[in-house]
Amino acid sequence: MSLATLKEVLEIAERTNTAIPGFNIDNIEIPEAIMEAAEAENCPVILTIGQGAINAGGLRHLPDVVRRIAESSRVPVVMHLDHGVSYEQAITCLRAGFTSVMYDGSHHPFEENVRESQAVVRAAHAVGVSVECELGAISGVEDGISHNNTNLVDLDEMKRFISVVDCDALAIGIGNAHGIYKGIPNLDFDRLEACRNFGGPHLVLHGGSGIPEDMIKKQFLWASAKST
Ligand SMILES: [Zn+2]
Repeated sequence: MSLATLKEVLEIAERTNTAIPGFNIDNIEIPEAIMEAAEAENCPVILTIGQGAINAGGLRHLPDVVRRIAESSRVPVVMHLDHGVSYEQAITCLRAGFTSVMYDGSHHPFEENVRESQAVVRAAHAVGVSVECELGAISGVEDGISHNNTNLVDLDEMKRFISVVDCDALAIGIGNAHGIYKGIPNLDFDRLEACRNFGGPHLVLHGGSGIPEDMIKKQFLWASAKST
């Protein structure tokens, strides 16, 4: 099948009451293992190209790799930019054929994050590509880039953000962190429930690898529970 957009697979998640996994890829071998597992589970998958891969020149070949994988895949595959750093980078990825781009302005002042996110959404939606934004910086190290300021998403800011930024998905900080956790993660489930109750875009959990399975399940139940 051809590449799917993030919006399309999130609609599948909504219908089937599931979460869609996203994995960073840096080479051509890792996606093979991911696809083997995704097809075995009959689960759509998000293949994300991050800043580490891009800095290593990954935009030269990884988009072609992901496109070919999608063509021969039995499950929907999304080609996604992870933690996009600028409007310009989002445009580069639109041209390279991505079907989803993340713009991460969480480390910028709120108004700047809103402004840049709006610009990325406008450009991406014009060509049918989905957008993920971020609020509340997610700490830890990802792709060799460290984000040290753990920042729980501010509920008032989230309300304001989703009222003016028409993104398809929103990554929020609830105590989750990239990379290896030093101990058991301390996740703010009440905050997650409050975010879900806003009824805005789909929520994205970054730094899921080190979160214990029971917390992932609890988190997913909270995140996917319908607001009433
Ligand atoms: Zn991340």
